[in-house]
Amino acid sequence: MKITITAIKADVGSIGGHTRPSSRMLQVVGTVIEERGISSGLLIDRYIGYTGDDIHILMTHTHGVGNEIIHKLAFDAFMQATETAKAEGMYGAGQDLLSTAFSGNVRGMGPGVAEMEIEERPAEAVALITADKTEPGAFNHPFYRLFCDPAANTGLLLNPTLTKGVEFRIMDVQTGKTASLHTPEEIFVIAAALMYPGRYVVESIRTRDGEPILTATTDRLNNIAGTYVGKDDPAALIRLQKNFPATEEACAMFKYCHFVAGNTRGSHHMPLMPVKRNTSSTANYCIPIVSVSLFSMTGGKLGQSVDAFETSDWDYFRRLAVEKSEMMRAQGFIHPATLIPHELEYNKGYKSVMAQLETKFKRE
Ligand SMILES: [Mg+2]
Repeated sequence: MKITITAIKADVGSIGGHTRPSSRMLQVVGTVIEERGISSGLLIDRYIGYTGDDIHILMTHTHGVGNEIIHKLAFDAFMQATETAKAEGMYGAGQDLLSTAFSGNVRGMGPGVAEMEIEERPAEAVALITADKTEPGAFNHPFYRLFCDPAANTGLLLNPTLTKGVEFRIMDVQTGKTASLHTPEEIFVIAAALMYPGRYVVESIRTRDGEPILTATTDRLNNIAGTYVGKDDPAALIRLQKNFPATEEACAMFKYCHFVAGNTRGSHHMPLMPVKRNTSSTANYCIPIVSVSLFSMTGGKLGQSVDAFETSDWDYFRRLAVEKSEMMRAQGFIHPATLIPHELEYNKGYKSVMAQLETKFKRE
């Protein structure tokens, strides 16, 4: 049975800064999806949650990738949540919606989209990965290690499908072009691209036979809009078990709490901290966060889900992230604690300060 899994996420307002959406906003999104998606029979199932200030809507259906009605449903849910956010005085109400007029597809309109059409397996294990206070390239490190590094993922040596290698599709976020690269033969070319997460990001991964394993949001809001309108926090969908990575292999790639761009004012490097689902962003300098929901899908029904980072061992890695963040914050404003100038989200302020500096430079 062919099933389409669509995840669409957006930040349309949050409480007291960039923390989390209000309960009323989440309720409004849930009602729109329930009434127009489930009751109408358009969708098979849905899951709605949040990570920091981003609401994510996961939908299963049979209408294929890029379907206008499905995208409009999510867009309208975010529009209505924006109205609620405005009425409640939420910070940044509607910030990720670059246009209020829907034009066929949410790509390029602000919300992030990760979707794939699959031939559903008898036991279809799938995970939704969502991050906040960071950028699409935040997943370069975990996805590289998961599919390219047997020292991190022994499954590459034990699973015949993964041992054959996979196809990476990597997007250059400056040009919008995508390259197809294959493991194991092009592993160093892949590594060279993923080395710079601000420029090259993983768009999708397939088996050598073309079966979809993973898809990620690759829209970069600041490129779409021309100016800063909000950090383009990523989401990804990954199929797990059998011919694909094991659940524990995929999730363990987030225990390294690697440094990513983002956090406060989207202008710093900080570690990516694995957190439980529906967690507010931390008021401690907005350490970037990531959460994972696990599903067992059958006939497109998502059923009961599991929070991948809820067990107590993840408290250890959360502590590691806090320790790494403290080390980086001890660096103050000096790069690499801060991003390079053109990646600073608040670079207008920086430019005005630098303009003052320019006037001071004189040849002796
Ligand atoms: Mg966010």
